[in-house]
Amino acid sequence: ADAAVIPALVIGTGYGGSVAALRLAQAGVDVHMVEMGMAWDTPGADGKIFANTTTPDQRSFWLRTKTKQPLSNFLGFPIDKAIPRYTGVLDAEEFAGITVYQGRGVGGGSLVNGGMAVTPKRENFGDVLPTVNPDEMYGTYYPRANAELGVNMIRPAWFDTTDAYQYARVGRKHAQRSNFPYVFVPTVYDWNYMEQEAAGTVPKSALVGEILYGNNYGKKSLQKTYLSKVRATGRVTISPLHRVVNVVPATGGYKVTIEQLNTNGDPIAVKEVTAAKVFFAAGSVGTSKLLVKLKATGALPNLNGEVGKGWGDNGNVMCGRANHMWDPTGALQSSIPTLGIDNWAAGGAFAEVAPLPTGIETYASFYLSITKTPNRAQFTWNAAAGKVDLNWQTAWKSVSINAAKTIFDKINSKEGTIYRTDLFGVYKIWGDHLTYHPLGGAILNRATDNYGRLQGYPGLYVIDGSLIPGSTVVNPFVTITALAERNIEKIIATDL
Ligand code: FAD
Repeated sequence: ADAAVIPALVIGTGYGGSVAALRLAQAGVDVHMVEMGMAWDTPGADGKIFANTTTPDQRSFWLRTKTKQPLSNFLGFPIDKAIPRYTGVLDAEEFAGITVYQGRGVGGGSLVNGGMAVTPKRENFGDVLPTVNPDEMYGTYYPRANAELGVNMIRPAWFDTTDAYQYARVGRKHAQRSNFPYVFVPTVYDWNYMEQEAAGTVPKSALVGEILYGNNYGKKSLQKTYLSKVRATGRVTISPLHRVVNVVPATGGYKVTIEQLNTNGDPIAVKEVTAAKVFFAAGSVGTSKLLVKLKATGALPNLNGEVGKGWGDNGNVMCGRANHMWDPTGALQSSIPTLGIDNWAAGGAFAEVAPLPTGIETYASFYLSITKTPNRAQFTWNAAAGKVDLNWQTAWKSVSINAAKTIFDKINSKEGTIYRTDLFGVYKIWGDHLTYHPLGGAILNRATDNYGRLQGYPGLYVIDGSLIPGSTVVNPFVTITALAERNIEKIIATDL
């Protein structure tokens, strides 16, 4: 083989990319990972790698001069503030009809997410990945993903007594009183560590409200799981602050064009490498944007017409409820949610009881609902503007609001309470402008074959959330990881 050809290049270092890199390296393949975000391995002036949620700074947002917090207001007042422009960890990427939150850096979404690690109920799996055999997923790949990610459960006795989950106990009580099933949600936060935080024996992370802009201690991000194993193989190099901008067929595989970025987001160098195999793991939005552009601009013209289609928001919608004075939710709130209200079968909603880690008593219950929705959007190339558009309609969220209402209208009527109207603007009940869970854009068995191979281009693969047709019925990263494990096993067995 040509020494100048990289055997495998992986675009992105989130869940799909980390799984691909680990399994390829373990199979003896040298891998190069390219990541547009920062490495997040060096503490700042305050001794911490990541900024706290209550004191956002340059580290918090990807190339913004003002924060764009999911909760924009409190008691009617806007709470966003000015920050220096920097290649920070959380991207609030704006399309015409929706803001899509994503992680930027080595570890992808695992750096910023809530750590909720939920395997969908098997009876709902047909709605998630209709062309994948559930026996192999529930027998092999979900258990493998859960083990590698370090998924664990809160100790129920601790949940029942700690101040940090009073907000979740109030959420559970209200669910019970309205006869909704509730479940404990497994997470990748180290629960033993959180108990030590509460005992005051270790530096605090979840219990000082770290979430969204990174967790400094207790969360097992990919840096502590898959990527630590990746490094131990000695076969993988990672280039942070490098963004893939082009992929074209070339002798020996594909010529990949990569821009090196400075921390202002500006390209400071352009590099070209040839790779025998290229894995698109830039996330649902990142992979879709790349493939749509590469097809439209003639770099990969034979990509099929399904590229860019089937994108969904996992039905995300947020709301708050105003509780009575006798139902305080607590000044101390762990940033890691661990209780869910399951009304999927009856009303199409799975709602997490989420924290409002403000440090003061708010008497508010706050929820992120995942809902069943029919609408799917498409990414298209906008040649005039030289960028990729998404045709999501804000009005489509009404389906999600109605599904969430099947839970919260009932709870409000039972408790004699009302919705909060001060969290997403002035007199606005629903947080319906965003998603944390972008899915689809290169759907399995449509834009690719049933294992993520891009037909017409041997050696090109998709291996991230863009394979999933718009919904995982619960939080997505366990499913993204398990699907990547399934696909890479097949690819290693047949394509190497
Ligand atoms: P990602 O993890 O998004 O990784 C893609 C990587 O590719 C990124 O690091 C990106 O910077 C990089 N990239 C993109 N384009 C390029 C390019 N052109 N060149 C080089 N690199 C590129 N899910 C859950 O299951 N549970 C939760 O509790 C949860 N909470 C969340 C909270 C927040 C605030 C957010 C934003 C997400 C949350 N999610 C949660 C969603 C979850 O994090 C994502 O579904 C998951 O990270 C997607 O994995 P992925 O492998 O598809 O891509």
